Amino acid sequence: MKIKVNNVNDVNLKEISVKSHLPASLNKLDEIAQNIWWTWNSHAKSLFRQIDKQAWIEASSNPVLLLNILNYEKLVALGQDAAFIKKVDAVYDDFQAYMNVPKNTKVPSIAYFSMEYGLTEVLKIYSGGLGVLAGDYLKEASDCNVDLTAVGFLYRYGYFTQSLSVDGQQVAVYEAQNFNNLPIQQLKDANDEPIVVEVPYPGRTVYSHVWKVSVGRIALYLLDTDNDMNSEYDRSITHQLYGGDWENRMKQEIMLGIGGILTLKKLGIEKEVYHCNEGHAALINTQRLVDLIADKNLTFNQALEIVRASSLYTVHTPVPAGHDSFEEGLFQKYMSEYPAKLQLSWDDFIDMGREHPGDHNEKFSMSTFACNTCQEVNGVSWLHGKVSQEMFNPIWKGYFPEELHVSYVTNGVHLPTWTSSDWKAIYEKYFTKAFYADQSNMKIWEGVYQIPDEEIWHTRMNLKIKLIDYIKDQFRENWLKNQGDPSRIVSVLEAINPKALIIGFGRRFATYKRAHLLFTDLERLEKIVNDPLHPVQFLFTGKAHPADGGGQGLIKRIIEISRMPQFLGKVIFLENYDMRLAKRLVCGVDIWLNTPTRPLEASGTSGEKAQMNGVLNFSVLDGWWLEGYVKGAGWALTEKRTYENDMHQDQLDAATIYSMLENEIIPLYFAKNTKGYSPEWIQVIKNSLAQITPRFTTKRMIDDYIARFYTKLATRSALLKTNDYAKAKEITAWKEKVAAGWDKIQIVSMDVPDKLIHNPQVGEINTIDIVIDVHEINDNGIGIELVATKLGKNNVDTLYNVEELKLVKTEGTKLFFSIEYQLNMAGSFKYGFRMFPKNEDLPHRQDFCYVRWI
Ligand SMILES: *Cc1c(COP(=O)(O)O)cnc(C)c1O
Repeated sequence: MKIKVNNVNDVNLKEISVKSHLPASLNKLDEIAQNIWWTWNSHAKSLFRQIDKQAWIEASSNPVLLLNILNYEKLVALGQDAAFIKKVDAVYDDFQAYMNVPKNTKVPSIAYFSMEYGLTEVLKIYSGGLGVLAGDYLKEASDCNVDLTAVGFLYRYGYFTQSLSVDGQQVAVYEAQNFNNLPIQQLKDANDEPIVVEVPYPGRTVYSHVWKVSVGRIALYLLDTDNDMNSEYDRSITHQLYGGDWENRMKQEIMLGIGGILTLKKLGIEKEVYHCNEGHAALINTQRLVDLIADKNLTFNQALEIVRASSLYTVHTPVPAGHDSFEEGLFQKYMSEYPAKLQLSWDDFIDMGREHPGDHNEKFSMSTFACNTCQEVNGVSWLHGKVSQEMFNPIWKGYFPEELHVSYVTNGVHLPTWTSSDWKAIYEKYFTKAFYADQSNMKIWEGVYQIPDEEIWHTRMNLKIKLIDYIKDQFRENWLKNQGDPSRIVSVLEAINPKALIIGFGRRFATYKRAHLLFTDLERLEKIVNDPLHPVQFLFTGKAHPADGGGQGLIKRIIEISRMPQFLGKVIFLENYDMRLAKRLVCGVDIWLNTPTRPLEASGTSGEKAQMNGVLNFSVLDGWWLEGYVKGAGWALTEKRTYENDMHQDQLDAATIYSMLENEIIPLYFAKNTKGYSPEWIQVIKNSLAQITPRFTTKRMIDDYIARFYTKLATRSALLKTNDYAKAKEITAWKEKVAAGWDKIQIVSMDVPDKLIHNPQVGEINTIDIVIDVHEINDNGIGIELVATKLGKNNVDTLYNVEELKLVKTEGTKLFFSIEYQLNMAGSFKYGFRMFPKNEDLPHRQDFCYVRWI
């Protein structure tokens, strides 16, 4: 037999996952690691850090991973370290005391759905602002003891990690997460088998595992289809956040919405209010309708009353790319089973996602569907509420934007997460520890004026130095490896100067955020950064979506500029903006800059994070800053739009930025006294903390949600449900009657005085009479109102006033209306009459948007 040179089969390695075995005395530590409460408790965090600083860095500040990578001897030694165990006990007692507070039953219970959650950089299930907001909100719900349960995805690859090629091109790397090293627990049944949620897809079932993240007292359930019950094609549903094509997005949104509700059902969880955080999750309402029809024996219309009455949709952006919509063909491929379950025709079903029902070229929009199936809708700042009214106006034709029920709650940030431990210590010292529970109370924050200037200055300097050290630590190696020219890199790192005025800019590189604005006039910028007496430095960071070429081009441009000799070490780009880098920046810089095109920044939140660390905002009056800005407490770029042309507007805005930096901000910062700081600058910090910070916390935000929406929805939906859905059935029957008879309503007579039309005079009172015949509707549930408009900005008719006519008499099915109308202002007006269904049980007009202008 011939001897072969080589006879080897494939390497055969079996994966085993060795759980670290903690000594019993450390079980409490493990329990703390498994609840991400530690992310907003400074003592818990420092407990992990002090176990082994090097290992903590190696574990990327992930306590679960840390405990998994410590070797057994180290763990045994730790378990016998009495001083350490004492600290663990103290933190654990705090944790237990926190966890054992019973739920606040005065506040409605909430089911919350979101495509992403930014809870900690350790859990890569977020991309940016939307996710971080949702994560902050869960933490606040926990702190406020709201009975809230959340649903989302456990992404295998999450969002990408950003690195840069030598020439400044963004490189997106998707790293698989190892679920064993994350603060998550897989849900198992009594036999220790994974719980599986079965979600119908065309021709197959997709099976999802469920993981739980404990966010303090709140449970967040994460769906995960990456298991071998599914085909490769379906395993990838939960692979990437905002990755893949439209079909993949469709599959994801079915999993989030339909799968989300099926998950809660499987777990036996029912809530009073269903909160859809952005349109991605809107299909929750499809499944809720299906369930109500099948289980409660309701008709589609009755079920819709219940679903609407218990649903809130929060919209997060006016930018079209932020609103998902699906071609009819694709939508039909996945949703064709649903009309039968809903007792609807296909057209009636898909039309719920269209602004123009019946238009087959119009895609199915998740946002429109959300608007049609949620009673309440809100934007995320006052201005964004207004912008959303305009944006959604086509859904409720017949009303003017400002008449819509679409409202707002301004976003906030979770104070214990985003405030550095140094500042927390100051707040606890001057406001008492109890202040967290009442942190949006402005009175408490007046205490800021008691803090000595030096204390504020030293805290600021300390945080700035920490930031600089962090940058040197984190980026040196990486830059040396990837960016060539070691001497340049060393000089950049050495140039970062705590004495300079450091300005931070960190956000997604979407073009509307205008990261390029600062670089409009390089010569002028060069003078600003190279003033030897008043050094200024800029730190930029942010990711561009891998499909956004424009955004990536901006990053490349900034990298190029940062390498020009005159900007070396003055303009620095830090790659891979995530929550950790965000926290360092919003603690360590002096100024947080934001320059979006108004009004496209729906809210923005990073500036709010900066606020609580004594960092001052310099921003366009858009989103939250329009409400937040107070003179003497930060800086604002005017909201006036001077040019239609974007390029001209950019040039003007850039010139304004330079001039404000040159003439106000830089001189103020460097007006240092003999103690080395500028007392005027500290005064601005104090004003900003006292007058702005408390208004932009998630505490204030959740209070607003409860007051404006949750309570209202819970109360009304409870009323609709009682007594076997009696009220829902009654309203439905009435709506059906009005809908059937609507087109048959006749205008019998309209008596508008001639002089009102031809020669109206201010102060004069005119009587107007209108008679209609409602025929088979045969009740008084029809109203008529006089609507006056005036020519406003841009030659558009804008609402001037609305006055309802009085029903003065009925005769059979005839209704007689009258009004004494007084013109109280001179000018040019238009007027008209609007007929609408009227019923006290409706929450608002757009709930039953039948309107006839007569
Ligand atoms: C807070 C945060 C954001 C959102 O910031 P905006 O001001 O809304 O752009 C994005 N990414 C990360 C990592 C954040 O921490």
